Amino acid sequence: MMSEKLAETVAEIAATLSARADRGRVADYIPELAGVDPGQFGIAVADAGGHMATAGDAATPFSIQSVSKVFALTLALGKIGDSIWHRVGREPSGNAFNSITQLEYEKGIPRNPFINAGALVVSDVILSGHTPKVALGEVLRFLHFVADDETIFIDDKVARSEEATGFRNAALANYLRAFGNLKNPVEMVLGTYFHQCAIAMTCRQLAMAGRYLAFGGRHPTSGGGVVSSDRAKRINALMLTCGHYDGSGDFAFRVGIPAKSGVGGGILAVVPGKASIAVWSPGLDAQGNSVLGSDALEMLSRRMGWSVFGD
Ligand code: GLU
Repeated sequence: MMSEKLAETVAEIAATLSARADRGRVADYIPELAGVDPGQFGIAVADAGGHMATAGDAATPFSIQSVSKVFALTLALGKIGDSIWHRVGREPSGNAFNSITQLEYEKGIPRNPFINAGALVVSDVILSGHTPKVALGEVLRFLHFVADDETIFIDDKVARSEEATGFRNAALANYLRAFGNLKNPVEMVLGTYFHQCAIAMTCRQLAMAGRYLAFGGRHPTSGGGVVSSDRAKRINALMLTCGHYDGSGDFAFRVGIPAKSGVGGGILAVVPGKASIAVWSPGLDAQGNSVLGSDALEMLSRRMGWSVFGD
């Protein structure tokens, strides 16, 4: 049974936040995202018993953007294992998500897999041996499986919108290639990356998809292993230290749980052994993290005693 306290807390959070006027700014550097209504807020929490508490716009699909980097990393680790760490680091960047300067002085090895440069390397790994179409099919199939939902799709309009304006990412990819840290043609890596970021999901679907990270690497519905529990722990550690770009320290301080944000305003958060959570509200703070989403997670983790640093 889903705890009554959790259901009540989720409803209360949505009610409190619906009254908030300061919601941050919608990402507008991807034209297709600039038109999203900032008045939306959704939350979904999947617990260990397989129950789901939801409130607000939990059934509205949104662009998961960088949240996809968690799933892409999972697939890349499945493909080449720990050798990926020769090509990408595991340290917080302390820099903007799309920074290019750090890449120069660190000689083409991105700080972590969740900044754009690192995610491009991850996309390159997923792409190796495949066409972009097949690689993206693999990402989608993985999501269909972990979320128990075959309706999850790639929003082509968002992908094309980013493709047309993604000059910084193109610069990062070319730079990585110059350092020999991309193996596939730059345009193919970029195409794969943009389409992976353009996956549309609802909070409900995202909370379902994150369960393998919350529950020891296992897919709760079938009981099968998605990743080893060690790997799930490590992905969670990266989410905690690097999941909010250069806002990661502040997020750990305020919320205290592993989480990954995206500029579409979504955040996937994982409470090991207890819950997989998705929140979404399109307005972002200066670091590119959802304002109401972060606030919602702070309230939830406090009230439920879910911080990994103690209750
Ligand atoms: N597709 C976006 C970009 O590469 C993702 C950024 C994000 O969500 O942080 O700029």
